[in-house]
Amino acid sequence: TNHLIRALRSASDGRGDAPFATDTTGTVTTYADLWHGAARMARVLISHGVEPGDRVAMQVEKSIAALQCYLGTVMAGAVHLPLNTAYTAAEVGYFLTDAAPHVFVCDPARQAEMKTATREAAVAHVLTLDADGRGTVAEAMGNAPPLPAAIPREADDIAAFLYTSGTTGRSKGAMLTHGNLVSNAAALRDLWQFTADDVLIHALPVFHTHGLFVAINVTLMAGGQILLHGSFDAAAVLADFPRATTLMGVPTFYTRLLDQPGLTRQAAAHMRLFVSGSAPMLTDTHAKWHDRTGHIVLERYGMTETCMNTSNPYDGTRKPGTVGLPLPGVEVRLTGTDGIPVPTGEPGDIEVRGPNLFAGYWNMPEKTAEDMRPGGWFATGDIGTVDADGYYTIVGRSKDLIISGGYNIYPKEIETLVDAVPGVAESAVFGVPHPDFGESVAVAVVRLPGSYLTDEDLLAVVMPDLARYKHPRHIHFLDALPRNTMGKVQKTELRRSFGGN
Ligand code: ATP
Ligand code: MG
Repeated sequence: TNHLIRALRSASDGRGDAPFATDTTGTVTTYADLWHGAARMARVLISHGVEPGDRVAMQVEKSIAALQCYLGTVMAGAVHLPLNTAYTAAEVGYFLTDAAPHVFVCDPARQAEMKTATREAAVAHVLTLDADGRGTVAEAMGNAPPLPAAIPREADDIAAFLYTSGTTGRSKGAMLTHGNLVSNAAALRDLWQFTADDVLIHALPVFHTHGLFVAINVTLMAGGQILLHGSFDAAAVLADFPRATTLMGVPTFYTRLLDQPGLTRQAAAHMRLFVSGSAPMLTDTHAKWHDRTGHIVLERYGMTETCMNTSNPYDGTRKPGTVGLPLPGVEVRLTGTDGIPVPTGEPGDIEVRGPNLFAGYWNMPEKTAEDMRPGGWFATGDIGTVDADGYYTIVGRSKDLIISGGYNIYPKEIETLVDAVPGVAESAVFGVPHPDFGESVAVAVVRLPGSYLTDEDLLAVVMPDLARYKHPRHIHFLDALPRNTMGKVQKTELRRSFGGN
C-alpha cells in the first residue's frame, strides 16, 4: 500500500458522493471526482517517465487540479514539491537546479519566462496549469485512464519536499516522509476534533505546510469538506461563516476580519473552531476576536521541517500569547547553549522529537547534522519558555536574538511592551550593530490610524519596565511591517534597511 494515500482516503472510503470542495462559484468536487482526477494525474506523471522518488515540482495557483497534482504525485510514488507563487523566475531557477525535478508544472502565463530556469535545471518535462485548472496537465489528464492503484510506499519514504519560507536566510528543502505527514494529520484531526461534518474555510496557499498538510490532510483524513477560496478576501471569508465550521489562518487573516463591520457573534455562531499559526498572534488580536465573536482563537506552532509541534487545547484553557502544549506523540524541550535543558521559566532553544521530524534537508548534510542533536532532538531555531502548566511561548528566533554587551535580549519581551502602548498597532524589535555593545535594540513601530505617538512618548512608557541594556536606541515609524505571504515579519529586511550595513 501507499502509506499516505491510504490514510488520506480512509475516512471517505465508500463515500465517493460526499462533497470534498466547493469553490467560490459554487462548483462542487466530490471525493470521487477528487481521487479520480488524482489517479489520472498519477498516470500522466508515470507516462512522462516519473519514477518513485522523483521530484515533481509545481508553481501554480490554487485549484482543485493543483490539489490533484499533489495527490497524483504521491500516488505515483513520487515527491511533491510545491513552490511559492510569488517566486520570480530567477528564484524558481535556484529551486529547480537544487531539487532537480523530473517534471515541473507551471502557470501557462509564465512558461516563457521559466525557459532558462527549466533548461538549466535540465527538467525533462514542463507542463502547465492555470488558476481555472486549464493547461497541458489538464489536457493530459483528460486523456489518461486513472491509475488503478497507488504505487506502494512505506512510512519512511519521502512524500514531499517543501522549501522553508526563507525568513532567516536562504530557503532550505525539507524532506518529509509519508509517516511524518500521516502521524501529524492524525494527531491534529483527533486533537481538534475534525469529523466528516466539518466544513473548513480554506483561504491559505497550498504551497506551504499550513494550507497543504494542516488544512488539506486533516480535512481528508476526517472526510470533511472545504470551501475553496483562491486567496484570502476578508469579506468573502466572512460571508462563508454561516455555512462553515472551521477556519485556519495566519494572524493577518484575523486582523483583517476584525476590520469587517459584519464580524459579530451572530455571524460566527455556526463556527466551532478558529485556528491561527505560522506567525505570532498579538494578545490584543486574541482579545478583540473574543470580544467580537465569543470564540477564543486556538493558536498552534509548527514549521516546515516538523509539521505541527504544539497546540493550545481544544477542550481546556487556550492561553493567548502561548502556542500551547506538545501534540500527542511529540516531545518538546528547552535547552541552553550547552545543550542542557534550562530550568522552568527560563528561555531556551526549542528542541523537538517525535514521528513528525523530517528526514533531513535536501543537499545540505552539514545543516542537517548541525540541527539534529544527540538523542533524536531537532533544534527548531526558535527560542521559547514554558510555564508551570506546560504551555510554551515563543520569544523569538535564535537568529533574531539580540546580544548587547553580553546580555541576551529576547525581542518578544520588548514587542509585548511596545504593542501595549496606546496608539501602537504593532511592532518588531531587532538588533542593529553597535560599536561598543555588539548590538543595540531597534524597534519598528506601526501606529494606529490617527495616532501621533512620538519616540519620546513611546520611550517614556516602555523604559521604566526595561533594564537599561534593553532600552530601544532606535525607533522607526513605518506604515506597515515588511511581511511575506505567510504573514511573517521579515526581520532580515528590517536589519538590512535600518542596520546601517
Ligand atoms: P526559514 O526557516 O527559511 O528561515 P521559516 O522558519 O519562516 O523560514 P517556516 O517553516 O514556514 O519557515 O516557518 C516556521 C516558523 O514559523 C517557526 O520556526 C516559527 O518561528 C514560526 N511560527 C510558526 N507558528 C508560530 C506561532 N504560532 N507563533 C510564533 N511563531 C510561529
Ligand atoms: Mg525555519
